[in-house]
Amino acid sequence: MRDETSAHERDRQDPLREFRARFRLPEGVIYLDGNSLGAMPAGIGERMREVVEHEWGDHLVRGWNDANWIDLPARVAAKIARLVGAPENTVAVGDSTSVNAFKILSAALSLRPERRVILSDSNNFPTDLYIADGLARLLGQGYELRTATADDMHDAIDETVAVALLTEVDYRTGWRYDMAETTRRLHERGALAVWDLCHSAGAFPVHLEEAKADFAIGCGYKYLNGGPGAPAFLYVAQAHLPHVRPALSGWMGHQAPFAFTPDYTPAGGIARMMVGTPPILSLSSIDAALDAFEGVDMQLVRAKSQSLCDLFIAEVERRCPGLELVTPRDHQRRGSQVSFRHPEGYAIMQALIRENVIGDFRAPDILRFGMTPLYLRHADVVDAATVLERVMREKLWDRPEFHRRAKVT
Ligand SMILES: *Cc1c(COP(=O)(O)O)cnc(C)c1O
Repeated sequence: MRDETSAHERDRQDPLREFRARFRLPEGVIYLDGNSLGAMPAGIGERMREVVEHEWGDHLVRGWNDANWIDLPARVAAKIARLVGAPENTVAVGDSTSVNAFKILSAALSLRPERRVILSDSNNFPTDLYIADGLARLLGQGYELRTATADDMHDAIDETVAVALLTEVDYRTGWRYDMAETTRRLHERGALAVWDLCHSAGAFPVHLEEAKADFAIGCGYKYLNGGPGAPAFLYVAQAHLPHVRPALSGWMGHQAPFAFTPDYTPAGGIARMMVGTPPILSLSSIDAALDAFEGVDMQLVRAKSQSLCDLFIAEVERRCPGLELVTPRDHQRRGSQVSFRHPEGYAIMQALIRENVIGDFRAPDILRFGMTPLYLRHADVVDAATVLERVMREKLWDRPEFHRRAKVT
């Protein structure tokens, strides 16, 4: 009872408390999966109706000019740039994180033509590893993907490494790299740093330029709340921009797409990383979604995220001794999620979701809970821990339907 009172007190004093109204949250649901699919910002429905019925339905092809669709990717990119500490003209929006990984890795490799190694973390999100491996195989000529664990990463950086593709925050455990320090190590050895910000952008302040990152990629549908399959983003440091020649040299990255010349000349700046026709419907969704960050101080988001994580860890550890914390307790070393390990993790999560507390499960045995300070309250995480305690104590998870794996986990 005392914890609940103090949680409510913290919510009353929360400088971000007003921002929850910017989201449309289903009644009775505690949503701890904003690290997988962000909650829906309140204005999306209206904006989508306007775009579909008016801009598309009435303007038809004229929308490219009349509704300025053609500049929508750049407008969205500017909003994301602010959240990741990048100058406006260094971020491009489009494609998926996977495709952007390919685009950025191939660009990075072309800046280190004498080197053959792409270095990554063996626990990286699989698509990053698959794309790096696929690119190395496509290039042949001795290119290879090499992996190391986070503990061994600094030792694995040597003069053969052209580029490292690292995800700042581990998607399973929430463990976080020191981006500036690891980038410095890479640069010392003459290698380039690509940071995957899927679990960083919108979750806490990111300082790409300050950390001297060479490149970055990240997705639009997690902490940025852009909607399922929202367009992703990429970053190219200003100094590299004139030198990267895109492997996916599509017409939207051409200097003059509507000149329709047969020869490819890349656009002068970040626009060269664009490939094909921008997806206006999903760009409109993420554009509206990013307005939820308007006027938001990301330092406050970070402080509240840590406060939510600390509270959730304390509540779950006290109530559910069978769950093993895998997220670092050290604020410096974690992102904005809390993960626990349990051999029955999948079934436990299904039972929890049935009780309207939504987190997710990551193989082999991780229960993940994302902390999204714009729409979560301290009282929510206490309530979630209470439900989790009941699921564990009453073994609510031990029913056949909770053991059957769905296609998407
Ligand atoms: C979610 C995630 C992705 C997703 O890539 P898509 O191409 O959008 O499916 C990539 N990398 C990391 C680290 C992720 O967490």
